[in-house]
Amino acid sequence: MRTVTEERGVIIGLEVHTQLSTASKLFCGCSTDYREDEPNTHVCPVCLGLPGSLPVINRRAVEYALKVAKALNCRVAEECEFARKNYFYPDLPKGFQITMYDRPIGTQGYVDIEGEDGEKRIGITRIHLEEDPGRLVHAGEGDRPKYTLVDYNRSGIPLLEIVTDPDLRSPKEARRFLNALRTTLEYLGVFEGDREGALRVDANISIEGQNRVEIKNISSYKGVEKALTFEITRQRGMMRRGLGIERETRHFMEARGITTSSRSKEVEHDYRYFPEPDLRPLRVRSWLDRIQLPEMPAARRERFMVQYGVSLTHARTLTGELRLAEFYEKVAHVDALLAATWVADTLLGELNYRDQSITALPPERFEALLRMLKSGAITDRGAVEILRRMLDAAARHEPIETPERIMKSLDLGRDNATDLMAMAAEVVSSNASAVSDYRSGKREALNFLVGQMMKRTRGKADPRELRRVLESILTSG
Ligand code: ZN
Ligand code: MN
Repeated sequence: MRTVTEERGVIIGLEVHTQLSTASKLFCGCSTDYREDEPNTHVCPVCLGLPGSLPVINRRAVEYALKVAKALNCRVAEECEFARKNYFYPDLPKGFQITMYDRPIGTQGYVDIEGEDGEKRIGITRIHLEEDPGRLVHAGEGDRPKYTLVDYNRSGIPLLEIVTDPDLRSPKEARRFLNALRTTLEYLGVFEGDREGALRVDANISIEGQNRVEIKNISSYKGVEKALTFEITRQRGMMRRGLGIERETRHFMEARGITTSSRSKEVEHDYRYFPEPDLRPLRVRSWLDRIQLPEMPAARRERFMVQYGVSLTHARTLTGELRLAEFYEKVAHVDALLAATWVADTLLGELNYRDQSITALPPERFEALLRMLKSGAITDRGAVEILRRMLDAAARHEPIETPERIMKSLDLGRDNATDLMAMAAEVVSSNASAVSDYRSGKREALNFLVGQMMKRTRGKADPRELRRVLESILTSG
């Protein structure tokens, strides 16, 4: 018998902070590209919050926000407005964050994702622009740091906060939504997913009829799915023991895969939001009509199916990441279907396994490999081996040799068909008993003969092909 608690549904809404890839910060001219630079080297009076400094809005950040609003099918009001969110924390030198409150850039949008049963529409409550605070570095060992350092290089980086309706029903759907969102942002060219802190997620989760729990500051996609899965188990466990779910904020401990109560009790009115007096309201709706969106993931997926004849599954995988789609289009001319299989199945599998990105491999190297496969110069096995060698070299930051050279140095070339036929004939004539076993119906005798062939080819040949060659001789002879 199923218990009542097991049947209750899960309700999830996400708040996603994404870093917009502008060259300068949201309200000053400081560069956003601080990467490896010393702390507090990309700062000025504005992003340090010094008295008397005034913010100037970054036009590009507004344009990017409007692009996202359009791509996420949001309504854009005639007038949007920045607001001050007041709270004290050392990473926030002004004592308030400039964000948007009751008049955000976009509202009532949606994103279509692949749901548990078919396509599913996830509502977007709102999107708004805000500045990132600085970064705190807790120095010292263990749980009790001796002191805390503040780096304001990140202070003032433009963030787009995207809030969903509580439409998600499982951790898996949450992950799919984030994947779809990330792909959209990448296609729009407003986001660099590889940057530190490029995407941070707060998740609201409740079990039907129970209080809502907020999980703060999850910094990876896998983290979101893990944190939500943990919370569902924790909350169901509480309910089974007859305990209520407390409304609270919890913190996700990525390394341990658990959430812990952080007992912060702020509610909205504690922030004393009020309109930002140093910035005029934005009247940007007419700008929206002039914004041209590039080809978006769904359109590209359709095009791949029509133009290259690839399956829906392959089209979905190949267009699921902008750089992967671009990589595929660079090599597709060799043979569109062969390329689709080798990029979407083999290459992507090897990359995921190694935690490498598609940028690890120059497309011309992969193109050469495809040509060798297509001409029959190498077997599938040989091609996988060459691919692995190339990715290993990339991982070690070594130059990547051409597939031809790797093939020669490893002696992976395919023995040509006549060689194989001759070899098979020899194997057949020198293993008379296995051959008669096979002919008398012992199918497993074929495995022995394939093994003999494998020995002679020193493992270079494709066993399926050897089997075909042997069978053709045995049935004709
Ligand atoms: Zn600055
Ligand atoms: Mn925010």
